[in-house]
Amino acid sequence: MPPIYARSIRQSLPNGSKNSRSLLLSPGLQGRSRGREIAHLFRQQRGLLETRACELDAILDDAEIEVTASKYAEPGYAAVLVRLKGGGAGILLAAQQSEGRRRFSLAHELGHFWIPTHQRVGPTLKCADADLRARSTDSRVIEWEANDFAAELLMPTKLFAADIRHRPVTFSSVEKLASADMYNVSRTAAAWRFVQLTREPCALVMTVDGLVSWVARSPAFRYRIVERQQPLGKGTVAAALNRGEATSGAAEKVAPYEWLDAPTDESQPPFELFESACLIPSLHQVLSLVWTPEQDFEHDEE
Ligand SMILES: [Zn+2]
Repeated sequence: MPPIYARSIRQSLPNGSKNSRSLLLSPGLQGRSRGREIAHLFRQQRGLLETRACELDAILDDAEIEVTASKYAEPGYAAVLVRLKGGGAGILLAAQQSEGRRRFSLAHELGHFWIPTHQRVGPTLKCADADLRARSTDSRVIEWEANDFAAELLMPTKLFAADIRHRPVTFSSVEKLASADMYNVSRTAAAWRFVQLTREPCALVMTVDGLVSWVARSPAFRYRIVERQQPLGKGTVAAALNRGEATSGAAEKVAPYEWLDAPTDESQPPFELFESACLIPSLHQVLSLVWTPEQDFEHDEE
């Protein structure tokens, strides 16, 4: 990033709105990575580049942001940001969020607070559960940017990528990364970040009540998994977990077409597929990490 942009971001932090106009006019910050860049500079400015789990409460205090957990928050909203005229803000959090989920919701709202273009949206931003899963391909650009900011603030690219390099693609790895002594995030957030930053061909699948809700694929994963309410294959580990016949954590070998679109010619796939899954009973959810190791690309192309 050119120094002039870096300087204008530093000037705008941590008090948010003071010098944000110069940021709005910086052409270098118009790309899709704006949320990540601002979070990175924020960590750099605070000397947090080598810190895994940053102390969000101290960051919120410094920015004069008051958090209220409210049972009165409207159903379907995870968090609401209300900017105050004299600076600072309030965040209304939906009640009963786990510590990891609470941290992601707060970091997402900090993204809205600090990304200058989000100030155009108005003094109040209501974020639904679905907004906290918005991706770079979504039309809801500000929600994606706030998630990109939150991911970098809570699980910085450089540290996290180094931490996953020699770990197997399993929920045992994810649980270690999500723990309070590492990144202190939810298993969903850690698994999503794993898939985003790994070099391995793998995908994360969320199923709710036995139906596929969403899929996130790693850059190296070349196969299609049908989204949008596809019923779970009976041979998947996720289905076995729902039946109480499997345990969370380690990876098990699964017939590839239990997860992937099958070809019409009934040919066998030229690769193996492993699945590691994790049950979240309170939400009727199962998260699956699906992994295809050692692909033979030349063979596949024939
Ligand atoms: Zn939002």
